[in-house]
Amino acid sequence: MISKKLLRWYSLNKRDLPWRVTHDPYKIWISEIMLQQTQVSTVIPYYNKWINKFPNATKLSKANYNDVLKLWEGLGYYSRCKNIYKTSHLVQKNFPDSYSELIKLPGIGDYTAKTILAIAFDKNQVGIDTNLERIGFRLLGLKKRSRFNQNKVKKFLEKIQDKNNPGDFNQALMDLGSNICQSQSVNCRVCPINDSCRAFLSLNPVDYPAPIKPK
Ligand code: SF4
Repeated sequence: MISKKLLRWYSLNKRDLPWRVTHDPYKIWISEIMLQQTQVSTVIPYYNKWINKFPNATKLSKANYNDVLKLWEGLGYYSRCKNIYKTSHLVQKNFPDSYSELIKLPGIGDYTAKTILAIAFDKNQVGIDTNLERIGFRLLGLKKRSRFNQNKVKKFLEKIQDKNNPGDFNQALMDLGSNICQSQSVNCRVCPINDSCRAFLSLNPVDYPAPIKPK
């Protein structure tokens, strides 16, 4: 079973990251927003400083915005910081645990909502970013980047998700995409799920999915 192999590999190889020692939805949310368009190694010191200063949404919502912004300085994409601050006022009493409520919050989109639900609340949701989508395309041996195929990947990942460990399942795929099944380079020989991967059977797995043609 794909998810069992993946989780076994993850338990032995997972990256040691500060937001992985908690299920606190506030902390998972902050880490996910910081990680958008930003490398993990860059995020770690920012995340640690942030959690140290603002350990929960109440503390953050009561802070002066200029102090909040100061802590974000250097991370870029400042609208993320603005949205975090806005959202902190809406979640200080109770952090939502449903997709319909999360998706209404400033700065929280489909991927972030599902990832928070899986990691913090153990809900069966798969947050699909480019890494997870790429792995799905390769497992299914799909080349064409069509809406139809994206939907197929989504349904497939939802189907194989370990229902008892949805958060670990998501994070295992994140680590696989970051270390082994990268966009332009793959290390299929050590991949824990290579026996279920159609792209692995081809001569060149990085051809899956086909690169986006410049317009
Ligand atoms: S076997 Fe290769 S292409 Fe397939 S998921 Fe693993 S690393 Fe990616």
